[in-house]
Amino acid sequence: MSDSLQSLRSRLDEIDRRLIESLAERQRVVIEIAALKADPQLCLKDAAREREILARVSQLAGARGLDNYFVESLYRRILEHSVRCQAARQSDTGSGAELVVAYQGVSASYSHTAARSHFAASSCKVQFHGYRSFAAAIDAVKRREADVAFLPIENSVTGSITETYDLLSGSNLHLIGEEMHQVEHCLLALKPVPLSLIRRIGSHSQALAQCSSFLESLQDCQVEIEEDTASAAKLVAESGDLSRAAIASEEAAAQYGLHVLKRHISNQKENYTRFVAIAREPQQADTRLPHKTSLLITTAHEKGALARCLDALAEHGVNLTKLESRPSSEQPWQYLFYLDHEGGLHQKHVAVALGELKKHAEAMRILGTYPQAGGRPRDEKERMIIPRSEAIVVEKLKPPAAAVVVKQNGSYRLASRAAHPDDTTVEINGLRIGGSAPFLVIAGPCSVESREQITACARAVHEAGGRLLRGGCFKPRTSTYDFQGLGFEGLTILHEAARAYGLAIVTEVLHPSDVSAVAREADVLQIGARNMQNFALLKAVGKTRVPVVLKRGLMASIDEWLAAAEYIMAEGNLRVILCERGIRTFETATRNTLDLSAVPVLRERTHLPVIVDPSHAAGRREWVAPLARAARAVGAHGVMIEVHPDPSRALSDGAQSLALEEFTTLAQELRSAAVDQ
Ligand code: PEP
Ligand code: MN
Repeated sequence: MSDSLQSLRSRLDEIDRRLIESLAERQRVVIEIAALKADPQLCLKDAAREREILARVSQLAGARGLDNYFVESLYRRILEHSVRCQAARQSDTGSGAELVVAYQGVSASYSHTAARSHFAASSCKVQFHGYRSFAAAIDAVKRREADVAFLPIENSVTGSITETYDLLSGSNLHLIGEEMHQVEHCLLALKPVPLSLIRRIGSHSQALAQCSSFLESLQDCQVEIEEDTASAAKLVAESGDLSRAAIASEEAAAQYGLHVLKRHISNQKENYTRFVAIAREPQQADTRLPHKTSLLITTAHEKGALARCLDALAEHGVNLTKLESRPSSEQPWQYLFYLDHEGGLHQKHVAVALGELKKHAEAMRILGTYPQAGGRPRDEKERMIIPRSEAIVVEKLKPPAAAVVVKQNGSYRLASRAAHPDDTTVEINGLRIGGSAPFLVIAGPCSVESREQITACARAVHEAGGRLLRGGCFKPRTSTYDFQGLGFEGLTILHEAARAYGLAIVTEVLHPSDVSAVAREADVLQIGARNMQNFALLKAVGKTRVPVVLKRGLMASIDEWLAAAEYIMAEGNLRVILCERGIRTFETATRNTLDLSAVPVLRERTHLPVIVDPSHAAGRREWVAPLARAARAVGAHGVMIEVHPDPSRALSDGAQSLALEEFTTLAQELRSAAVDQ
């Protein structure tokens, strides 16, 4: 190599180093800004500011003799990445969690590249795993081998990718994000041979369809369908055959050491694929980002049924972005309709429109609400955000076909294991319960009595490694003359104490009209044993998106209990945790009889998380620890335990409350035993 080329290349290397350093510095400032943007009054994506930056860099570029278009498009990517970084920081729980993403294909396939771009700003450590088929990627999520499946759903040239739609309708998974990925198909070969030498071209069927005009222009060339574009490139690389080529991306060429024979071979210059991120649980993204929502509906077989559903959206100013129909797997000539529209469930006009649509649909399921790829900033009307407790979430799940053949109790279709074979994990402020999540220890006093009392409990729970604080403010007491709780005043001090120690709150709600106010402060709503069949209350908590601990009624059978859970779920709140707290039997030695056999029975009949409250069952603190250990041993996902700084002075349930130091010892034991499992 000549000296001058060598020295010019070294100069370029030095410039690249400086470019990367500047980008890293920019990123550090972006992260500092992200911390300021924890203030909900500030917008995450500021369109005016973005326009200003683009205009400025474009002008600077022009003045330096650079191409404006090139610099602007580079900056669009940089700005998009900044917004994503900031949004990811808002929901970062600081847990340093890892995320496993399943895609279809091999390394450097379009799905892999799009997934990398989608998760580039994530604050988690992300691992990407390629699977043979779309169904295998979905199965990996169901089996908890992966957290997210990342699949293509439509292409701007060839239209819908129906397999993804069908997989969505056949599962209880949720959409949590989308990505618009520009596809730039290239023809790749081993060496830079003339096009006329190519005899065999392989690629994914979608890519072949998208390049049909180019393929028709070739003579004596055989087209072969491969599993994905990157696999086709890999096959060409391994074949050593100069007459073979693959249609794939430039990234695939780099990965498998191939040459690009021809770029831009799609029928249309602008070729985009929309990908969706699919997870087991819905995810709440930062509501300052423009959102989109996807629904699955079925309509009655009558004139104008679909039109009435669509009118409901139009009348409330909700913009439909996609409508797709797929044949029902259950009945010939019946259709499922997939709808995508702008706006999120946290927006009032969307909630109202969906409430209206639900009345006209036979069944409706919300597949997900998520930040829109390249979405425009919202206008004033869309700024009307509703509190999460009032959000109308109308998630009427239609059980997948398999549920119909499994014998089940008709009064709990949604709660039944038959409708949802995998365990449900409920997320509470980044904390997970159910499935394979760690054993959860919830603790706190029976009643919130004073600031000092609840603060001492919060400190003890925190120091024992707990994350969830219980405390009753509205107390359902057998005698009207007993302490009834501090009401909303208690809720305020409970909230303050919990926040001071970074804990989430579980508290009981007694009246339907209190539900939205309590839900604003609480992270989990508790329905007490005496209210297990208070159907108005169940429906009211069902309309929120706040997780619910549903305690077993004193005289309720397991089936009645599950039917009560169904009341909550049928309103759209699927985040129900069942709590066994003892039932009334002829035995009087204990306050109630802890029915530990309910735990394995429930684990068989339902996918919902199950916890045990040994305190209310035993009635005496001496028996709480052995029952808590037993609860863990029979397969409960957690326990809820009453504690008090001075049990002898407790205003309620002192006899069954553990002193703080007794609780610390028990919590340590339960946690280490859980680790051993
Ligand atoms: C409680 O948890 O404080 C309570 C009142 O429990 P239960 O509804 O199980 O009696
Ligand atoms: Mn109690």
